[in-house]
Formats: sequence, structure tokens, C-alpha cells
Amino acid sequence: MTDEIDIHPVTHITTDAIGQPGKRVFYIQGWQNERTVTLIVEKIQIQSLAVGLEQFLAEIKEKFPDLPEATDEFESDKMHIHPPVDPLFRVGEVGLGYDAENDLVVLVTRELLPEGSNPEEASVVRFWCTRSQLRAMCRWGMEIAAQGRPVCPQCGQPMDPEGHFCPKKNGHQRSEPTA
Ligand SMILES: [Zn+2]
Repeated sequence: MTDEIDIHPVTHITTDAIGQPGKRVFYIQGWQNERTVTLIVEKIQIQSLAVGLEQFLAEIKEKFPDLPEATDEFESDKMHIHPPVDPLFRVGEVGLGYDAENDLVVLVTRELLPEGSNPEEASVVRFWCTRSQLRAMCRWGMEIAAQGRPVCPQCGQPMDPEGHFCPKKNGHQRSEPTA
């Protein structure tokens, strides 16, 4: 089933990670009043979005120098996602657009489809946000992303809570990304 959803405008948007360090699942959740749309993302997608957004906002500022600066302030209490955590899909692509007339940034998220699928079958959710809403989400997202597993002082790799096979100590090689 292909969905095409516009949350226009978003009343609140955030990202969060749920689960044990090393096995966390990252989400984006957008609100329009009581309605929520929740999607699964990769940590790296949040990190890339944060970097991409800063560049995007700088470009907007260059074109529209009179715009007020977007803030990145948030209240941590309000940045955790709410149940139901019932994700619509796993995000494959993330994009940004700008509606200059209304000063809204659109975060476009496209469903990750199995290999060989028709790309037109991908569901799409567009979150229409203020520049400040997105900037706050990204700053919070960078904090969440950094709260992964602690890094082993011996080998520099992330340590799982249940134990760590340190290649410096016993020759085991582990190459999982930090989640
Ligand atoms: Zn180690």
C-alpha cells in the first residue's frame, strides 16, 4: 500500500532512539495536534540530516537575508517520542525543500523498498516544519546519536553492555557500527 502523507504544518517533530545501547532503533515522529506519524530511520540518516540542514539553512539565509535566525532550542522532556510507536515505514531517502512564501522547510521521507521494487510504490511522508523546529530536532538528534555504547579505551570500538571482545586483548575482530 502506497501512502502519501503531508503533515502540513507540523505542530511538533522529534527523533528518538529506543532500545539497549548497540541495538537502538531510531525514529522520527511528527505531530499535527494529536495525530502522529512515526517512521524508522538509521542513526546515520539523522546525523547526515543534521549536517545537511545546517547547509540548507545557510543557503536559505543567503537568499533571504532578512529572515530571523532559526533557533535550535528544545526542552528535553518534549523530545521523546510518544506511543503508539507504530512506524509507517523504514526511511530510505531523506530530502529537504523550502516554501519561501510560508517560510516552511519540508522534510521529505521516502520509504525504503526491497531491492527490485518499483520506486513509484514507495510511500512518502512530508513534514512541513519551521526552520527552528527542524533545527531543534537535529540538535537533539545529534545528542541522542552520541549516547550510544561507550568506547573501549583499549581498541576504540564500542562496548556492548553484556561484554566486549577486545581485539587488542584476545584477537577478536568486531566491526559493528555503533547504533
Ligand atoms: Zn576493546
